[in-house]
This record gives sequence, C-alpha cells and structure tokens, in this order.
Amino acid sequence: MTRVVAKFGGTSVGSVERIRHSAGLIAAAVADGETLAVVVSAMSGETDRLLGLAGEFGAALGDEETDVALAAGEQVSAALMALALREHGLQARSFLGWQAPVFTDGPPGAARIAGMDSVAFETAMDAGIVPVLAGYQGVAENGRLRTLGRGGTDLSAAALAAALGARCDIYTDVDGVFTTDPRIEPKAMRIDAISHDEMLELAAQGAKVLQPRSVEFAKARDVRMRVLSSFLDAGASKGTEIVAVGDIAERRIVSGVAYARDQARLALLGASGKSDMARQAFEALASAEVGVDMIVQAQARTPGSVNLEFSVAHRDLDRAQTALEAALPNAQLSSETGLAKVSVVGAGLRQRADVARSLFGVLGESGIVVKVLATSEIKISALIENDAVERAVRALHAAYGLDQG
Ligand code: ASP
Ligand code: MG
Repeated sequence: MTRVVAKFGGTSVGSVERIRHSAGLIAAAVADGETLAVVVSAMSGETDRLLGLAGEFGAALGDEETDVALAAGEQVSAALMALALREHGLQARSFLGWQAPVFTDGPPGAARIAGMDSVAFETAMDAGIVPVLAGYQGVAENGRLRTLGRGGTDLSAAALAAALGARCDIYTDVDGVFTTDPRIEPKAMRIDAISHDEMLELAAQGAKVLQPRSVEFAKARDVRMRVLSSFLDAGASKGTEIVAVGDIAERRIVSGVAYARDQARLALLGASGKSDMARQAFEALASAEVGVDMIVQAQARTPGSVNLEFSVAHRDLDRAQTALEAALPNAQLSSETGLAKVSVVGAGLRQRADVARSLFGVLGESGIVVKVLATSEIKISALIENDAVERAVRALHAAYGLDQG
C-alpha cells in the first residue's frame, strides 16, 4: 500500500469550506487505497494575526512565548481537519508537535527538526486512523514549544514523510510549480518535473511555493515530493514532481524565471592587499543576520583599491550599512535602492556559458539596464530597476521559450 503524507497549506485550510474540500481529497485518496498521514498549516492569515498579538506585548519571533502563541494556529487546523475527516466517515486524530513528538534544536522562531518519532503515526495508520499533525512546531530539549520558521509546515511534512518512508504531497492553491509567476506572465506553464536544485534556486530567488529547507531535506533524505492544488476536484490536479536531476526526461536549458522586488545594491571601495575586506564585510553582515546575494568583486579603477558589490533585501539595508560602517571604518560605502532581481534557473545552464551573454542581450533589447550580474552553477541573476521587473520577466520567459511547453 502506498504511504502518503499530504500537507495542506494555509489557503487549503483557510475556511470551513476549504477544510471540508481538502478533507474530501484525503477521503478520495484513502478510497483509492493509499494510506495517509496529514500535516496542516494554520488557516491563512492566522500566523500573522497571532504574531501581531504577541507584538502588542513587545514579543517578536525569537521569543519562546511568541512560539507558544504561533503554534496555536496549527493546533486549531489539526483539530478541525480531524473533525472534517470524521464527516467523511474516516477515523482521524490530531497530533501536536510535542505529542508526536517532533524534536527540535535551534532558537525559538527558527528551530530545526532534530528528529521525530513516527511510532504513534504508524500505530494510528495500521489501525485505520488518519493521523493529522499540526505542522510548523516541535519541542525543544528544555521542553518548550518551538516553531520552525515561516513556511515551516512544508518541513514538518517532509520530515514525517522521511520517517514513514512515504511520498510527500504538498497541497496549495496553485496546480504546481510554474515557469514564472502567472500574475505577471499569463503564458506561464506548469512544470511537470523539476530537480531539487532548480526548485531550491527558484525558491531562493523569490518563488514562494515551497519552503527551501523542506526541499533541501527532501533531497538529502530522498523523499519523493509533489506540489498539487487543493482547489481542484480529486484527481484533477496534475501538479509538479520534485525529483533527482537524473530522473528528468526532458532536457531544458532554462526551467523558470524568478524575481524578487525591493532589493538594494551596496558597494564597498577599499584598499586592496592590506586587509581582507571581503572576509571582514561578510563576517560583519553574517553577525548582523543580513542575507547577501549577487556578490561581485573587482579591481577598482583607482590603483591599489578593490571594489566589492552585492545585493541585499531593502528591509535589511539599514542593518547592513550599520554593520559595515562599524567593521570597515576606512572603506567607502555607497548604496542604491529601488532595485529588483530577476533570475533564470535551469540545470542546463551548467554547460551553457552563452546564456549569460544572451540574457544581457534580451534585457538590453527591452531597454533594461543590468546593474549587477551574478551567476551560479544553475542560475543567472541580474539586478535591475524595480519598475522594469514585469517587462524583464516577460522578455526572458519568451526568449527562453518557456511559453512553448
Ligand atoms: N503557519 C506558518 C506560517 O504561516 C507555517 C506554514 O504555514 O508553513 O509561516
Ligand atoms: Mg507555505
């Protein structure tokens, strides 16, 4: 019998009707002979609402009491889902993170799953009971509740699937992963199968379907993952499968175009040779918890000096500047805001150095200036003006034939 962990995200449990519909999908899978364990997120908007309530008392993410408040969102969903499954004539019971238990380490608000005990789930499933796990939560060694970081229910689901040797179906409000955001490019197409690494890059570059850590986990533990829509009728969602690179039949150079708005560019000009400016800069940024991307280091025009450029999210700009000024008081620091990042991602980029050049050309023809260009093995990102994002996404999507299936 096929074991499946089915995860339902916030919009899939966003109302009583949506919970009933999602429960119907579970009942249909059970009727098909699959053995299911279910993992649920909080109802959409609920985590933000609870975070706001904790905030009224000055508590933010990272406070143990904030985690207790946030975990309540998934607790409610788990109970309601178990009740909805009962309406479908199934036996079901809810499990909170500490009851499973899901063991965590790491800080409140951003804990990691250290391990989990799946015995209670096995026992329930063997007895014909559908277990429903509250996602996004676990218990720390000191006995306190922990949450796993925003979007963490995907990780709960991947971990449970690994523990049970099950496939992991992630239900959301779209029918899988698309070649780009369909709100920007209506010709965006659903991708049948994508590799873990491409999915990770798309997620890291702004695509929001899956939490990146859950994809890393699935890759490391060899969990078969699918993204499906819970908004369609049973069997109607074609979805996207996340697979090992070797398992993709169709070879594409570019798989998708992602974007992230509200980026800033930072440039540091300093003396070369004397000290290791790059190392000092990145250490300072890391301890200020600023994520850095698109790093370019070049010999500056002024002899004897070196130029280091990179992008950060706009919301981190102040923190980044403060940290850099403190760590490198003699370097010249400048910044530019109002920028965005567009990225093309594809496993086929590995062998194709010409794609970077053609990306320049495509954006240039659309009158879009590339401020910084950075490449990794399977991704090329360009920093451009914020208001050119939509044009850039459409131009690249067409240029790489992504609207042609
Ligand atoms: N409810 C949590 C969040 O909104 C976890 C999740 O939905 O995956 O981030
Ligand atoms: Mg999510």
